[in-house]
Amino acid sequence: MTTATVHRVFNFSAGPAVLPLEVLESAQRDLVALPGVGMSVLEISHRSKPFEEICFGAEEDFKRLAGIPAGYQVLFLQGGATLQFSMVPMNLLPPDGTADYLDTGVWSEKAIKEAQKVGAVHVAASSKATNHDRIPGQGEVRFSERPAYVHMTSNNTIFGTQYHFVPEVPAGVPLVNDASSDVFCRPVDFSKFALTYAGAQKNLSIAGLTVVVIREDLLERAPAGLPVYLKYATHAKERSLYNTPPVFGIYVLRLVLRHLIAGGGLAAVEARNRRKAEKVYAAIDGSGGFYRGHARPDSRSWMNITFRLPSEELEKRFVAEATAQELSGLKGHRSVGGIRASIYNAFPEAGVDALVSFMAEFQRRAG
Ligand SMILES: *Cc1c(COP(=O)(O)O)cnc(C)c1O
Repeated sequence: MTTATVHRVFNFSAGPAVLPLEVLESAQRDLVALPGVGMSVLEISHRSKPFEEICFGAEEDFKRLAGIPAGYQVLFLQGGATLQFSMVPMNLLPPDGTADYLDTGVWSEKAIKEAQKVGAVHVAASSKATNHDRIPGQGEVRFSERPAYVHMTSNNTIFGTQYHFVPEVPAGVPLVNDASSDVFCRPVDFSKFALTYAGAQKNLSIAGLTVVVIREDLLERAPAGLPVYLKYATHAKERSLYNTPPVFGIYVLRLVLRHLIAGGGLAAVEARNRRKAEKVYAAIDGSGGFYRGHARPDSRSWMNITFRLPSEELEKRFVAEATAQELSGLKGHRSVGGIRASIYNAFPEAGVDALVSFMAEFQRRAG
């Protein structure tokens, strides 16, 4: 097999997003027949030994890489982060309870809407008034009297903001985090979160897999009448094999986890991500106001970098000319406009360097 002839551009897609080339190449090499198995991972029973090895291996590697404490389970589910917007309140919000939400963007607001269908929701802090350009500080948060849980979104993919601290919540209240777009961007103390969920297609694997890390004491909170598939306890009891799981997503996750472990773990990932993000923010800050970042400096995301140019006309030109230079996927989301550079874990540093040079060159010509 040769990959030398395959040409890849720099892919700034917000999601599904770039995967490590090495992972794609392994998946390609072993797609037709897993070594020692003689059949594709797509063709074997999820109850077979080879698949159990992949699935439980992914679970163990995930726990090891992330340092998941005892008393937590890692679940491989389907339905995306979007199904978690519903499953979280269905499992954790009792009929007479209130759930507190930290509103930091479009995804938080979608989560709030779904929770409101299940019970009472209190928005404990919001950045909406300034078009979600920042993460509300701890001092602005007003919790309800006894929240059933507190929900946050650690990285706001659309607005380009990110929590760089773990919010403090009242003693004993479970903290739930939508980490879809920044999971594993650096080491995290999972013991601070009772439940973490992430759609896999940004930093972990491919679309179709959702990872949930749940503290075991939450498993039994679901009301008895909840459909079996929507209960976390169902999946925990069967180690994600209650029914046919998203086998290819789990397989690719395993490859990504091994790639991260071999590369020095999450501390190494953090150093690289910090350096990558700093380069782009330095280019914005050093442009004399030609490029204007959307996020306030203390809330800037390492994963999604959002910025504007002096006019929409120039933004259109920027995207078109960048695309012609093989910098793909830089058009911003309509809620912010302008440019969004998504530079997840697997986005190569060479692509960041190419973007930074392009930004300087574009400004020279247009500024
Ligand atoms: C992409 C994203 C989602 C939506 O994920 P799906 O897997 O498409 O449901 C939710 N939350 C955040 C923070 C995201 O980045």
